[in-house]
Amino acid sequence: MVTIRVIVTGAAGRMGREMTRGLLQAEDIAVVGAVDRQQAGADIGTLNGLPPAGVTITTDLAEVIAATRPQVMVDFTVAAAALANARIAVERGVSPVIGTTGISLDQLDELHQLCEDRQVGAVVAPNFSLGAVLMMHFAGEAARYFPRAEIIEMHHDQKIDAPSGTALKTAELMAARIKETPKLLPVEEKVAGARGATYQGLAVHSVRLPGAVAHQEVIFGGQGQLLTIRHDTTSREAFLPGLLLAMRKVNQCRGVVYGLENLLEL
Ligand code: NAD
Repeated sequence: MVTIRVIVTGAAGRMGREMTRGLLQAEDIAVVGAVDRQQAGADIGTLNGLPPAGVTITTDLAEVIAATRPQVMVDFTVAAAALANARIAVERGVSPVIGTTGISLDQLDELHQLCEDRQVGAVVAPNFSLGAVLMMHFAGEAARYFPRAEIIEMHHDQKIDAPSGTALKTAELMAARIKETPKLLPVEEKVAGARGATYQGLAVHSVRLPGAVAHQEVIFGGQGQLLTIRHDTTSREAFLPGLLLAMRKVNQCRGVVYGLENLLEL
């Protein structure tokens, strides 16, 4: 079995810790380095409730790359740091696999160019949850046959934005496949907002409740039938299989592949 040597940037963050924990337990992955501004000196095994891994968090990415010779850099930091980290990695022949959100299309273009120049593959995926990516894909397919649909997304009550990015992206995918938007009867809303928000011609409802994590259902209505496509994220572990898939495929990528869906045979 070929082992992939990987370093994790943002290793002390919520996602960085959860993903490092999973990577340490994957047979074909060797976590050889970890970078963060916090928790310098902490062992990445003990930090994550595992036996000591013999790898400690440090703060200088270029130094870690020089000392550990990784093939892949996994990044869960903040957008500005992720881009700077990716430049450092690509210039040293290391493939970035970036989960950090908020990278602009212009920045992606710049990174793509750098990757092409250096002949290094990269993956940028704002959502590594395979189930969420498939839910969006299936909703897009169903929208071709069921043009009447509504989206209900549910998240924990600490989430500050609504609707979720996933709900907006789902509506965009569906709207692109609906050939003719059916005419709807006007509804008299006795309470403002009773029919939810409208985005791309589709009703989107956002529920915020303690106890929820991240959930979405898309309900399609047709003659004499309802079709529901639903996805539930119950913990951050949901992101690990998609991350592993990207890490295993990144060396076959040319330039930047944006979105996990582009690594699946859909
Ligand atoms: P977090 O704040 O818990 O962790 C971020 C970590 O990055 C912190 O430990 C911070 O110290 C570190 N960091 C910041 N700047 C740095 C730098 N210049 N160098 C090194 N380390 C630096 O955040 P989080 O909840 O773990 O989320 C991280 C990112 O992942 C966010 O952009 C979030 O939206 C994204 N995210 C993506 C997915 C996905 O599936 N792609 C899933 C969940 C979260």
